[in-house]
Amino acid sequence: MAMAMASDYWEVVGDTFCDILVAFMEPENEFLCSSTKFLMEFEAVIRRVTSDEADRLLDYDVIPRTIWKTTSIELDDSNSSSMDRALSETLRQLQVPLEERSSMVEKVLFKAFEAAQKPSPYTGGKRLRMRVNIDMYVIDDDVDEDANDGGGGIIGDYYEPRFMPASKLSIEKLERTSVQVPSTVCSVCMEEIRVGFEATKMPCSHLYHECCIVEWLQKSGVCPLCKFRMPN
Ligand SMILES: [Zn+2]
Ligand SMILES: [Zn+2]
Repeated sequence: MAMAMASDYWEVVGDTFCDILVAFMEPENEFLCSSTKFLMEFEAVIRRVTSDEADRLLDYDVIPRTIWKTTSIELDDSNSSSMDRALSETLRQLQVPLEERSSMVEKVLFKAFEAAQKPSPYTGGKRLRMRVNIDMYVIDDDVDEDANDGGGGIIGDYYEPRFMPASKLSIEKLERTSVQVPSTVCSVCMEEIRVGFEATKMPCSHLYHECCIVEWLQKSGVCPLCKFRMPN
């Protein structure tokens, strides 16, 4: 068992964001297997503020000391308790405080199993790609201690508003198109958009339901599938 890290006990302030996107991937093999494989990519932004700053998070002069880390893990659903453990450990390495971990693990597992129930647009073994975006504020009064708490990743002055939404104008300008290709799936809601139905096309050419992608872009201005950032 690894030693406790200071971040385990950070107190969380403000709203915690944990957005999860799921998309089917092409299978690695053509044979159906009973388990579903998940490739999970995590991006965590942990914004450390002092107790004094915690009451006025949105003031312009509060510039959090931000830790930004990404990691990815591969899991399969044949053993849910090992998924549980692997997810907890991943969140720990991302320096997500202990108090948030179990609810986040639950949320990720819920999404994973919900998606695994859905029919895949591909034949063969099921593979799902999940993106988990975490963004939170924590109280850390230890201003001098700026060292990376172990666990790799990147530390620095990553300073960008939460998920930077796409501009209203760029959302309005999105192209609408009718779907030509069978088995087109909107990766936000995981439902198929049938041939002949209308879809919204991102500049990167990925297709989504209008309501799904608009809601997503209002939170985060990047394509859920390829991270293309919407122009402003
Ligand atoms: Zn959709
Ligand atoms: Zn895209």
